[in-house]
Parts: sequence; structure tokens; C-alpha cells
Amino acid sequence: MKTVVCPYCGFGCRLIIDRDGWKVKPYPGEPNRGKLCPKGLYALEFVRSKDRLKRPLKREGSSLRPLSWGQAIGEIANELLEIRELYGPDAVAFIASSKISNEENYLLQKIARLFGTNNIDNCARLCHEASVHALKLAVGTGAQTNPYEDIENFNAVLIWGYNPAETHPVVMDYILKAKRRGAKIIVVDVRETRTMAFADYRLVIKPGTDIVLANAIANVIIGEELYDEEFVKGRTRGFSEVRMAVMKYTPEYAESVTGIPAEAIREVARTFALAGSGAIMWGMGLTQHVSGVENVLAVINLALLLGYIGEKGGLYPMRGQNNVQGAAYMGALSEFLPGYVPLTDERFRKRVASLWGVDDLPTERGLYLTELWEAIERGDLKALYIVGENPAVSEADFTRVRRALRKLDLLVVQDIFMTRTARYAHYILPASAFCEKEGSYMNSERRIQWSHRVCEPYADSKPDWEILAMLGRALGLPGFTYAGVEEITAEYFRLFPELEERSVDELKNGDGIFLPRKRLHTWEFATPDGKARLVAVERISPWEGPNEEFPLVLTTVRLMSHYNTGEMTLRSPSLVKLMGEPRALINERDAERLGIRDGDWVEIETRRGRIRMRAKVGGVPEGVVAIPFHFKANRITSPALNKAGTPEFKFSACRVRKM
Ligand code: SF4
Repeated sequence: MKTVVCPYCGFGCRLIIDRDGWKVKPYPGEPNRGKLCPKGLYALEFVRSKDRLKRPLKREGSSLRPLSWGQAIGEIANELLEIRELYGPDAVAFIASSKISNEENYLLQKIARLFGTNNIDNCARLCHEASVHALKLAVGTGAQTNPYEDIENFNAVLIWGYNPAETHPVVMDYILKAKRRGAKIIVVDVRETRTMAFADYRLVIKPGTDIVLANAIANVIIGEELYDEEFVKGRTRGFSEVRMAVMKYTPEYAESVTGIPAEAIREVARTFALAGSGAIMWGMGLTQHVSGVENVLAVINLALLLGYIGEKGGLYPMRGQNNVQGAAYMGALSEFLPGYVPLTDERFRKRVASLWGVDDLPTERGLYLTELWEAIERGDLKALYIVGENPAVSEADFTRVRRALRKLDLLVVQDIFMTRTARYAHYILPASAFCEKEGSYMNSERRIQWSHRVCEPYADSKPDWEILAMLGRALGLPGFTYAGVEEITAEYFRLFPELEERSVDELKNGDGIFLPRKRLHTWEFATPDGKARLVAVERISPWEGPNEEFPLVLTTVRLMSHYNTGEMTLRSPSLVKLMGEPRALINERDAERLGIRDGDWVEIETRRGRIRMRAKVGGVPEGVVAIPFHFKANRITSPALNKAGTPEFKFSACRVRKM
């Protein structure tokens, strides 16, 4: 049976495509078990859009001239080499994609490092990089610890800053199966989400107060001796520091900060602790803050105090895009080699170098995706090669990104559509869509799955891996003579001990392969001493607090029928119809004060600019405004970064007026 991996979210559903009718059916096996959400069901609509790029294009003045693949790749390679000659390899940066395959991400980071730079990053930086940093520190591995199937067997599910009913609808099946077994569902968010409709406990907190709530829950767990003493003593370090730090976060103090009644905090802490097993699932509501890393650490502390790791629990940083986990694992991050191995790990680095036919690779951390724009403004970065990303819309405060893109000596965009970013490009390369090529993808639970080609590449487009292999050869880099994509798969298999014995054929048939193992940390943690770290974290204020001028807090949310910057879903008529018009949610009291009624046009303004949208009254607490992030929201979001390089998309001071 030929299946493709859904091109949308990181849950990783597989689709069976009827070639004649272009119809989609859900794959009956793992992970989607015969289910799909509307995005998967209508995944082919954008592939047939008349807006697809047909052939390579070169900008000449204000027009775009078609050219052959040979000319395009030859000219791009010459310009990249010239820039390297003049300014050094770090004057060039590459943006990989969470939508392209493992093989394609692997090739792009291989090109970057062999070219001489670690300036390779992808949009994981914008979503779960804070989770990676926190997980690496606490448990030693920056990934989800358990498979989805474990969720249905745990007795409690704590869902924090994450709205699976909209973002990963199929995972709700696992959560609801647990609920039917009697598991308690606890949801923490800054607004009333769809997921809350299924919850036993609904905690609507004030934005930016997650650490206070998590520490207050830890305060109750420790104070009432509900923690797993044997686990804490035997398998963790840092308990006494955490105990001391959370002492002051009493439920009463937390009530005054978070808005959650002290008694509710106690009840939730007891329920979660006494459940005996539990999953913690989180999303961008935790990570897209200046306190993103610390938010995640505070929540991981709860799992470690209760021993909810391995058989008794799991940590689930639910990934956004279908291959964001794969992009990161394949090494498309500026601070890690493949497998999240630090650049400073000389043994592994030299092993990778030798596999690629060179002595060594660059060791200095490259620029984060979110640092590129300033580097261009400073004149340090001259060329940018972007595959399948749209930073002119997806980056916080995107006006400065667009300004920077105009300053580049060379901008290459490889994509399936003329995206907003592609409009600034000197060269535009047409890529094939997900169902027009072969390759592997890794979902949020680290399951690698094969996606088959079910139709021919559109017009003169090419699979991204073929384009990148051509570029590697044109740049004179060693080892880019691949006869087929399977040779790249086999090459990356050689980097990971768990995959060395596995075959590409095995991957092509069946329900995929887990990397590294199905369940992590069952016996020991991947830290140097095998023990997990409880890390004491204190409250960190958002970067941009509300004031008289901007008295409200703006946050961004996702919609089920829509996806990221909308390039695919806005070209899918069925999804556009399902979605309706986007609305800005505003609290009843704020609306009354501002004279706003349901359906009115409003202007939402932050220090960076303003956008217009119709209002929907209700669904958020007083003082909060929530807008879907798919529609130019990033014109006004905050670019303040946390230590993992993720912007504070979820908290900007704003004002709203009726138009
Ligand atoms: Fe695709 Fe995610 Fe929907 Fe599954 S849940 S069909 S992977 S968008």
C-alpha cells in the first residue's frame, strides 16, 4: 500500500491516496488508526493550485525571467562561492524546512557545514527550541519521551499551553480514550479552548504566569509529601533547591498572580499526584515566551517529582509541523549536529566529517534563524538560501525581516509557491509537493515514516533533494552523487547506532521506525551521570508589560482548518470554506468599555504596528486579546527572544479600538 505523510502537523498521520480520483483515505495503522482531520482530508487541494511555481526564475529589475535548471543552479553556486571568497563562509546562511523530508534537511545541513558554516537553522527555532533546551538540561534528550499510545494508558493528562483539539485533532482520540478509562484531564491555558470542553479541570491563567502556577503545584506536591521519594532520591538531582525555591509559591500567592483560586490549585496538584501515572503535553503557550525554557523546566519538574517518566508517564512537547522533529534530528539547527549532538563533541563531529569525506567541520555555533535579520542589517550576512520557509510572514515583527531581505546580495527561495518571502528573491526554484516525491519524515513521537511518490512532479518542478544534490555538486562539495533518495536515507541511517542495522526497505513497509527508542528514560536518563535534573526556576516577567498606552495583552492562537502562514491552506478551497473569517477574541468587559460588539471591525495595535480584523466578543479573560497567527499577526508580535532564540509571540502589550 502506498501512503504519504500528511504535509501539515507533527502528529504524523498517513494518507492513502487513490491515484485516479485524487481522493484521500486515512491510513488504518499507527499513528492515525483510520482517522484524519480536515487538513489531512483536503491535503491534495493545494497541490493542484494554479499558483504552483512551474520553472526556475531569476529576478531582472522588476521582472522575473525563466531559466533552465542548469543555468539557475550554476549561477547560484557561482554567486555563493564568490561571496565566500570575499567575506568568508559565515556571510552565507541556509534556512531548512520543517516541511521537507529528513533526507532533504540532512542534505541542506550537509551543504552548509561542508561549505564552511554552521549558519543552518529551521523554524523549530520559532516553536519548540525552548523545549529542546529544557529537555536536554533536565533529562538529557531534547525530544518527546513516549509514544502516543502510552497516553491512553495513563491516569491523568496535564495539557499546558496547548490546544490539541485545534492543532493536532487526531491526538484527541488518544486523550479521550484515556478519559473513557477514567483518566483525569487537566487543561491550563490563557483562554477557553476547544480542548477545555473535554477537561475535568479547566485553569484559565493570566498570560505569562505559567512558572508561578507550576511552582505552586510543586509546592503542594512537596508540602503534602505527594512526591515519589524513591524516584526523586534514586533518579534525580536538585530536589533540595527546587523545594527551597517553590516554598514561597504558595497557592494563595499563585492565586494573586495567576487568577486561579488557591483551592483549585491544591485540588489539581492532588489529583495529578495521586493519579499514579500521567502525561504532560505542552505547546507554544509555554515555549513562545522570554521565559520559554524556564516555563518548560517548571513543568518538567512536576513529572520528575512524581516519577511520571518511562512506564509511569511521559513528556510530550507536541511538535508543530510534520517534519519539525526530523529537521532538528537531521542537524538543521545551528547549535547541534545530527541527533542533537553538540558541535563540541569532537568524536561525533569527526565521525560525521569522515562519512562526508573531509577531516573536520566548523565548530562555532551558527546564527539562529531569529538572529539572521540583525546580521543582515549589520552587513555580516550577505546571502540567504531558504527552502520551504516563509520568514517574511512567520517571523515576529516581520516588517524588520522584510527590510533585511531587501538588503541581501543574494536571496534564493526554493518553494512550491511564490510566497511572500519569494517576492524578495533573486532566484526562485520550483520544488515538488509532498506527494510528488519520496522520502522519510519523523513525527512528534520520533516515528520515522516513509512517504511515497503518488504522482509526477508538477511542470518543471523537482524534489528538494534533487535540487540540493545539484547544488552540492555545483559547489564542488564531496559526496553529492546520489542515484536515488534511498541512498541519502541509508547515509543518515549510518549516523545513528539505533538505525545502523535497519534497512530502507523496512522503513518503506509497516508503521515506521522509532528513533532512538520507542520509550526514553525508562531505566536511566541521557545525562552524563544518568540522573535527571530538577531545576529551580523563578518567575520571569514578560518582556513588554502592559501600560497606560498599551493596556491589553495580545496573544496568538491556531485554528484547526488553517496552517501557519496559510500558503497551503489558503489555496485549499474546502479548508477556506470550513474556516470562515478570522476573528480577534476580546473579553466581554473590555468590549463593553471600548464600545465593541460581535462582528465589529477593530484595529489592534502594538509598538510595532497595527492590523485589522473583525471582533468576536468572549472566550478570553479580561485584559487579553487573542488573534489567529495565520493572518499577518506577526506584523505586530514581539521579537523579544528567550535563551533558545524563540520570540515571545504569545505576549505583546496592545491596544484595541473600534473602527
Ligand atoms: Fe494531518 Fe495533523 Fe490533521 Fe493528522 S492531525 S490529518 S497529521 S493535520
